[in-house]
Order: sequence, then C-alpha cells, then structure tokens
Amino acid sequence: MISAQPVPVLSDNYAWLLRDSATGATAIVDPSEADPVVAAIAAAGGRLDAILLTHHHHDHIGGVEALRARFGARVVGAAADAHRLPRLDQAVAEGDTVTLGAASAQVMETPGHTRGHIAFFFPNGAALLCGDTLFSLGCGRLLEGTAAELFKSLEKFRALPPESLICCGHEYTEANARFALAADPGNAALQAYAEQVRAWRAANKPTVPSRLSDELAANPFLRTPDAAALADLRSRKDQFR
Ligand code: ZN
Ligand code: FE
Repeated sequence: MISAQPVPVLSDNYAWLLRDSATGATAIVDPSEADPVVAAIAAAGGRLDAILLTHHHHDHIGGVEALRARFGARVVGAAADAHRLPRLDQAVAEGDTVTLGAASAQVMETPGHTRGHIAFFFPNGAALLCGDTLFSLGCGRLLEGTAAELFKSLEKFRALPPESLICCGHEYTEANARFALAADPGNAALQAYAEQVRAWRAANKPTVPSRLSDELAANPFLRTPDAAALADLRSRKDQFR
C-alpha cells in the first residue's frame, strides 16, 4: 500500500514522497530542489529508491541530479521526453508499470501541459501523481498540447476510482477556486468546497491531495462536455485576473 505525502518546494510546488508500507521502499515525485526533499526523506527513514518525473519543466526536475548522487535512486520518466529530461534509468510509456517495493504504478500518457507529460497511478493506495496536468479546482496551462489532447488526458483521470487521491504539482487551489466560482457560479458543491479550501489555507494547510470525487463535483475543467468547451474554459482562465 502506497502513502503519499506532499513536500513543499520552491514557492508553490509540491514534490511527493511515496512510501510502500510493505517494504519501506520510498520514492520522490518531481523534486524541483533537493534540500527539502532530503529532510523529508530523513524523517521518513533515510531511504530513496526511485525518482519519478511527470514532465521536463525545471520546477519538477531541478533536484534530480543531487538526489541521484546522494541516494543512487533510479530515475523514471517519459520515453517521449527522454531528450529533455535528466538521464533516465527507466523510460516509460502508456500502460507501462513502475514498481516501488511491493507496490506498482500504471503509467498514463497525459499530454496537454507538455507533449510528453505522464502521470503515475498506484491502485493500492489510490494515489494519482498527475504533475501539472490536473490541479485541485484547475488544470495546467496548454503550453505545448491541444485542448483535444488535454480533454483525452482528463478523461483518463475521470475513469479512475472516485476515492483516488489527486497528488498534483502546485498549491494553486485558492486562486483556482476564484476562477471556478466565476465560471460555474451555480455549483453548490463547488461553493462548499471553496469554503473548505479557504479554511485550509487560512490555517496554512495544504489543500492536496484532494479526492477525485470532490474534483468531479467541483472542478470545472473535469466537468466540460467536450474538447471545445475545455478550450474555451482554459482560454478564459488564461485571461482571468
Ligand atoms: Zn509544468
Ligand atoms: Fe510546474
């Protein structure tokens, strides 16, 4: 069984510390810097087996080489983006399996934010490591992919068990809530959830991981009926102040 703990890095990023309870095997997802991750690993038992990467942006890979050198951990990332990721020990694609101790993750290709973006889903623990594809109450900007690609990526997430934990790459939830409320003003579930988000942030708590069931009810980007509606929503969010 996998547990996932957010490790705050940079100003608003999260790396995710994954631990397999059966074996103690530990992984870090998207370490943008090493020092806070080293501290989190020390607190969790001092072991790092794997470094999982969702995409090539510097705020997700900046700490990889320092961590690899210190722990000898294997680095896993998208074969499609191997040319712009740190050197990969395991290059993966859609449907591949990544093991961590006794647990394993399914690899999903989720283009949209970047062309080679991937996500990892651990069924035992229901943890979805989705990088910058999906955020709580939002989604990643379309920097390289199309709305049609992102729509298909989000459809893969929608099909996961509703209790799945959304372990995303940024603490953007409060700002996302402001846009979501403007975009979907009649959504009572969203209004209640946004209130909860405000309370968490006022108490200086992370808003993630969130539950897929809550995102399905409140996140407007998971509620668009088709790629055209998603394109429209994303461009309105890009202009929203
Ligand atoms: Zn990114
Ligand atoms: Fe990012």
